[in-house]
Amino acid sequence: MKNLQDLLRPNIRSLKPYSSARDEFHGEASVFLDANENPYNEPYNRYPDPMQRALKERISVLKDIAPEHIFTGNGSDEAIDLVIRAFCEPGIDNMVTITPSYGMYEVAADINNVKCVRVPLSADFRLDAGAVLDAADSHTKLICLCSPNNPTGNLLDREEIYRILKYFNGIVVADEAYIDFAPSLSLIRGLVSYPNLIVLQTLSKAWGGAGIRLGMAFASPWIIDVLNKIKYPYNVSLVAQEHALALLKRENRMEDQLAVILNERARLGEALGKLPFVRRIYPSDANFILVRVNDADYTYNYLVGRKVIVRNRHRVSLCENCLRITVGAPEENNMLIKALNEMTL
Ligand SMILES: *Cc1c(COP(=O)(O)O)cnc(C)c1O
Repeated sequence: MKNLQDLLRPNIRSLKPYSSARDEFHGEASVFLDANENPYNEPYNRYPDPMQRALKERISVLKDIAPEHIFTGNGSDEAIDLVIRAFCEPGIDNMVTITPSYGMYEVAADINNVKCVRVPLSADFRLDAGAVLDAADSHTKLICLCSPNNPTGNLLDREEIYRILKYFNGIVVADEAYIDFAPSLSLIRGLVSYPNLIVLQTLSKAWGGAGIRLGMAFASPWIIDVLNKIKYPYNVSLVAQEHALALLKRENRMEDQLAVILNERARLGEALGKLPFVRRIYPSDANFILVRVNDADYTYNYLVGRKVIVRNRHRVSLCENCLRITVGAPEENNMLIKALNEMTL
């Protein structure tokens, strides 16, 4: 394994980060005259904790990992962008990802002028570690994997992910936005064996907090320090930190909702299976179902006419005539099923 330090872009390695007032002093005091804030309109007149300490304490308990291993940001999308900016020299370095998968990896790479090589999954959406490793060259700094994968819904084979972590001389990002819906443990436990691993999770899916924008990255303290060094000083607003903490304190509510959604996923799968124009339902470890129909564009437009919006993935590689359907609340799923039962070809 290469020295991780050598993977960093030289300008990031030598960066002297901005030090905010709240970095310099954090703790109890009577009078804060250090950040040019307006003293009125409590509490949002004050800058938030730039290191989100209270929030990370709670995440630390929930995920059973020390706070030094945790980064929190403005959605997982912030972490994806920061990882690319830390490790990939624009115009020189590249990253490897899989296809079909989450579109943001490639967009974030494009914005940073970093080439993104996409390795196709098999026809039944399985990961081939050998193919991914073969696609990497001496300028590949990053491999981005998504498990459970979006839009296919399946967990990637754990042994294949471990093979990539073991043989790739660079950073491996494992995006676990949907891990709460999956019958498998997070890769967070793998951090002790793989210093090149970054696990991404989010409050946007199972926790029901997409609107507050709170993403998490779990990695070695060295990688977390790098991300903290290059993030905006106050990257998570006070409103988001408070709301995130409130959500994370209500673990039981999340688990109750999760149980309903998993139950609905099974029910929706069965109902879809009875429709004459459904050709294939892909098994899901997430809160959505990918389904192949006879004519995705027609079905999508029909559903729009019935005021039900699903995601048309027809133009995504390996997803011809596929729709990605989020598992909603029981009433919402009933409306979808009713509309589909009434569709005439
Ligand atoms: C929804 C989703 C996310 C979440 O992104 P946020 O910026 O945290 O809302 C991340 N990765 C994948 C694959 C997703 O589908």
